[in-house]
Amino acid sequence: MSLTCTLIWWPISTAGGLLNLSIFIIWDILTLYNYFMAVINGPGFVPHGWKPKVAGEEKFLQYCVECKGHKAPRSHHCRKCKRCVMKMDHHCPWINTCCGYLNHANFIYFLFFAPCGCIHGAFILIGSLIQLLNNPYYLYHMNGEPMVQLSILGFIIVVFSIGLAVGVIVAVGMLFCIQFHEVLKNETAIESWIIEKAKSRERDPSESEFIYPYNLGWKNNLKLVFWPTDEIKSNGISWPVIDSCNQYTLTVEQLIQKAQKKERVVLLDIVQNYSGYWFPFSKGCRVVYNIPCSDEARIPLSVGDVVEVSRGRRYWLYGTKVNKEDTDQPRVRGWFPRCCARERNTKEMSQDIKSEIEDENEKKKN
Ligand SMILES: [Zn+2]
Ligand SMILES: [Zn+2]
Repeated sequence: MSLTCTLIWWPISTAGGLLNLSIFIIWDILTLYNYFMAVINGPGFVPHGWKPKVAGEEKFLQYCVECKGHKAPRSHHCRKCKRCVMKMDHHCPWINTCCGYLNHANFIYFLFFAPCGCIHGAFILIGSLIQLLNNPYYLYHMNGEPMVQLSILGFIIVVFSIGLAVGVIVAVGMLFCIQFHEVLKNETAIESWIIEKAKSRERDPSESEFIYPYNLGWKNNLKLVFWPTDEIKSNGISWPVIDSCNQYTLTVEQLIQKAQKKERVVLLDIVQNYSGYWFPFSKGCRVVYNIPCSDEARIPLSVGDVVEVSRGRRYWLYGTKVNKEDTDQPRVRGWFPRCCARERNTKEMSQDIKSEIEDENEKKKN
């Protein structure tokens, strides 16, 4: 619609019109190019069965049961991609893959150029709308100058397109700001979360303070994503770090956090079957009304199962099903209604879960 309007309003027979149209088309090309490059390149996956070259360094890394290999520094396992993703930021449904090491630059360029194109388009559309609404005035004053005249349907599409353009400017523009801010600090969304936990968790007196190893200063951080040089570059596995840290500073912190989380885990017995439905009406209205607002999985459970619960809410718990036999199988994790489970060792556990719920409630309030 922007193209239609701009061709009527500012014909390409004039130099200005030609320039305007060229710029508008360049935004489109850059947006589409970076979008498809982000899809085609993908985030880069850690090879199956990967382990560090130096023997003995495995102990600094987490092991991925699904990929049957160690998780390289900054990589995380994505449940949707079913692989360990290099420098995983998040799984993006719009590109149907993760945003990570290989496609981070294209993804951010896409987030930048799409709002640019939409701002340009919105100016054309809003200008056209003003002309359409004040048609008699323009007809009287413009004597022969080109102006936008459209049918009722055209008018409706213009209004609709303005809505779409403004929506993209706000939503994608905000995402761009968030992502760019992360790149300036050389952090991914997951790493920001790990840093937050590292700052707030209890430390042994023997442990030194946690220093995030990848923040090389904003200029080098930008280089690393957009224009890698011989000194500032990565292969997706090893990353440049600051002097006081090493390749495993972050992964060791992750291991400690994981171990501490494991200490807080509570074992529960399942006393009611749960189908795995998102809206389990048979469990009561409150359970349905208070479903956890996340796309994390729900796990079907049957009586006799045992679940390790790590966090919870008033009516729902999140946990990992304990495998009865084959321990090599990947374990299923997800939400289930709290009423299906019973605590094993009542006193201690209710205290733990209680504090978890309080944490969740605090978070909600904040
Ligand atoms: Zn994996
Ligand atoms: Zn993914």
